Amino acid sequence: MMLREELDQKAQAVFLGVALGDALGATTEFMTPGEIQSQYKIHKKMRGGGWLGVKPGQVTDDTEMSLAISRAVLAKQGWDRQEVAERFLAWMRSKPIDIGATVRKGIRSYMRDGTLEVPCNDWDAGNGAAMRMAPVILFTLGDDRLLERCTLEQAHLTHNHPLSDAGCITLGRMVQAAMLGADRFQLHAMVRELIAEYPNFKFNNYKGHASGYIVETLQTVFHYFFGTGSFEECLVGVVNQGGDADTTGAIAGMLAGAFYGLDEAPRQWLKKLDSQVRAEIEQSAVKLLDLSPWVAEGSQIQELSGNLWEYHNQGYVVAITTNGKVARSGKNVMARGTARQAADRFPDLPLLLGEKINQFGNHVFDLGQRLVSFPVEHTPWEVPDLQLIRQSGEELRQLVDRNGWEKVVVPRPGCGGGGLSWGDVRPLLSPYFDERFRIIKAPVG
Ligand code: MN
Ligand code: MN
Repeated sequence: MMLREELDQKAQAVFLGVALGDALGATTEFMTPGEIQSQYKIHKKMRGGGWLGVKPGQVTDDTEMSLAISRAVLAKQGWDRQEVAERFLAWMRSKPIDIGATVRKGIRSYMRDGTLEVPCNDWDAGNGAAMRMAPVILFTLGDDRLLERCTLEQAHLTHNHPLSDAGCITLGRMVQAAMLGADRFQLHAMVRELIAEYPNFKFNNYKGHASGYIVETLQTVFHYFFGTGSFEECLVGVVNQGGDADTTGAIAGMLAGAFYGLDEAPRQWLKKLDSQVRAEIEQSAVKLLDLSPWVAEGSQIQELSGNLWEYHNQGYVVAITTNGKVARSGKNVMARGTARQAADRFPDLPLLLGEKINQFGNHVFDLGQRLVSFPVEHTPWEVPDLQLIRQSGEELRQLVDRNGWEKVVVPRPGCGGGGLSWGDVRPLLSPYFDERFRIIKAPVG
């Protein structure tokens, strides 16, 4: 499948995930797990009902506010927070089935005097800004600073609190990373970063509180996302926890959607989902992605043609794709591809790299003479390892940052003799490779 097609489906899965979680959770919103259990055993069907009395597959404010942001972005073909405020106002005037108190207060204050940023308030640590993140996540893909800016601007229309801000930004980064192929460990590391700054978000001792407080909402989402193995299991777990179930459902839906993709969403749920909402979401998700820097500018990875070593002569730092095998001689086995070319040019290299690997393991190392190792496989007779390639991308980025290098050229890792396709490798590296990086076709053999 084409990369763009795959990404379109991920985008649809993110946004549909919101609606599915919202519609599913509306049934159990404000119930306790005990009440849910005695009424449904396990709630896992689109059956409507709940305190709002929704129809099966009907969505609530979580999805509606997401659509309001989406319409604002698509109408302006870019970010305009006043337009977002206008759409929120129009939505409030349409007498929605449900509207949160903090949201109403924020929209009212825009209506009264055009306020685009409510003052910071302890009451604002609710989950109302996080639940509507999906469109922001999609249209800022590929630009972390844009994600941060638009996240805060949309959030502060109604919610202004450091915990909400931090939660929304982390959620946004996680969903984007999952869309681009991040694994559980990588996503978990992002949560740990959040916890390092705001220990409140710790969720390893989950107590089952699933309120509208952003901390408890995200704890619930993280608990079930990391503790389950499928889209369905994750959402079923969350909505059976009750509390603010439609909103924990919506947030879990966007994350699980990004991670598992559309094929994993239960057909029965999609079939029952409000068909107008579903159609708008499917179209908008792709259009939002069209506007994203990731798609509009291509990935920031730029590709070169020609000979790797000519770029070395021109002052580029060159990454050599390597394996982790050290022979009894103490030399790294550099038998193929760029590794072999490098060893021919720099005869001391195999011993130097062998020593580093023996001492520190199979990692990216500065080898001097503007050469760095870039592990793609553990031994020369194994196939390249995508997880190792991603890790090498991250390590190379850190090394480049530390050394202040300005131009680095990397042969398509694992794609020469290794036999991987560049379409599979590219999304793993694009989060790390910015304009300082160039990719060159890997030599075969
Ligand atoms: Mn709701
Ligand atoms: Mn809710």
